[in-house]
Amino acid sequence: MPFDNKHKRTLLDEPLICERGSPGRVGYSLPEDDIPARDSANDLPPALCREMLADFPEVSEGEVVRHFTRLSQWNFSAATTLYPLGSCTMKYNPVVNELVVRLQGLAQLHPLMPDEYAQGALELLADLERCLAEISGMDAVSLQPAAGAQGELTGMKLIRAYHHDRGYPRKKVLIPGSAHGTNPASAALCGYAVVEVPTGSSGLLEAATVTQFVDEDVAALMVTNPNTLGLFEREIVQITEALHVRGALVYMDGANLNALMGVAKPGHMGADVIQFNLHKTFSTPHGGGGPGAGPVGVKKLLEPYLPIPRLVQEQNGYRWSETFPRSIGKVRSFYGNFGVLVRAYAYILAMGSDGLTQATRMAVLNANYLRQRLAQDYDLAYDTPCMHECVFSDRSFAHTGIKTLDIAKRLLDYGFYAPTIYFPLVVSGALMIEPTETESKETLDEFADALLAIAQEIKENPAALKDAPLTTPVSRLDETRAARHPVLRWKKL
Ligand SMILES: *Cc1c(COP(=O)(O)O)cnc(C)c1O
Repeated sequence: MPFDNKHKRTLLDEPLICERGSPGRVGYSLPEDDIPARDSANDLPPALCREMLADFPEVSEGEVVRHFTRLSQWNFSAATTLYPLGSCTMKYNPVVNELVVRLQGLAQLHPLMPDEYAQGALELLADLERCLAEISGMDAVSLQPAAGAQGELTGMKLIRAYHHDRGYPRKKVLIPGSAHGTNPASAALCGYAVVEVPTGSSGLLEAATVTQFVDEDVAALMVTNPNTLGLFEREIVQITEALHVRGALVYMDGANLNALMGVAKPGHMGADVIQFNLHKTFSTPHGGGGPGAGPVGVKKLLEPYLPIPRLVQEQNGYRWSETFPRSIGKVRSFYGNFGVLVRAYAYILAMGSDGLTQATRMAVLNANYLRQRLAQDYDLAYDTPCMHECVFSDRSFAHTGIKTLDIAKRLLDYGFYAPTIYFPLVVSGALMIEPTETESKETLDEFADALLAIAQEIKENPAALKDAPLTTPVSRLDETRAARHPVLRWKKL
């Protein structure tokens, strides 16, 4: 049988599961049912009953396993390759976390179980709250928010409640241009006007500039440190003081905690509230949009407003309490995503305080190693040592017509997922690389070699990059069309 394009199908053109199989094919066989059928017409209106599930795939177990295993192999993930998405901290998720979270006593615990029968789980949560407070230098923690963005929203609601209690909720929130898009969104959802604070020529906020923006209408500054350029805000203490003297508060976006853990504490820098992205810093899975966890840590002055229920310790153990009259209320069902919290706790205990500090140091070292190896060929947005991530621009390739997107697409051909691109917005054609501490020097070198080879290609034959990627199941897609006209429902052809 000669090879033709039809054979490519088995390799690359995986059909939808609904397009596989044949009528009557099943994935199991059970003995004949000897319980008399019940006439369901008496239970449900006939219109709601059907003989068969329409268009349900009829496939064997083997077909199902192959289908999903194949699809999984087409995916880039931290389990298959370096996944250098800046800002996202895509570190490897240790498998032992998965073993721990599957322990029967944890996995099968019902959230409505009375407190006295769930003491182990409550102690775990209380201890995780303590660990996060210690790591961040904050006074109290709520584990309830389900994502970083929801942690931000919760934090901004706390700030609003605090000002409201003082008679005036204030009107504005200051945010630097390099901020993650969720920052202005969270502030706006709390009814605040967003005022952009410009950064200086070194990519950093300057206390003198921030001070000019602070008046009695400013509720808070939202600041990420290190910022989304991977640079440490050197004037952070003067900046937070400038807000505090005018009665305003400081929200610190904690998504970049992977650059601080065990070395420096946001609480010491003047932050009043921060969120933790457990799926970034603490190695829990990012998931396809969830479930996640974005606990918030606060200073004493915001503690009365934390979401309820809160965990309290009494003589005979822990219990959930709702008697916090100034609380902003609930932000998530039950107590947050328990399974994610267990994974983060397992990670923190496995690493220990020395391990977490070492992780931070390695993350910063790895990012600086890549920065150094690539700086000859790629234009650095800011040519200073970075923290856990470094940002390049496509400026040096402008004359060739090659843009960041082309470089990102070509990287897929070299077997690496692409870094974050076109963010932060303050760098044109940004290419933002965060290797994390979990990568070895060999992997970093392979990745740097791939980017250097691409730079060479740009010099010699830039046109070739415009067709990349060539080795993936589908090549360059019309991304605008995919976003504007998504086909989300399978239709029988
Ligand atoms: C990831 C990120 C967020 C949002 O966190 P999610 O968990 O994705 O909602 C906010 N700020 C920064 C700087 C981030 O990198």
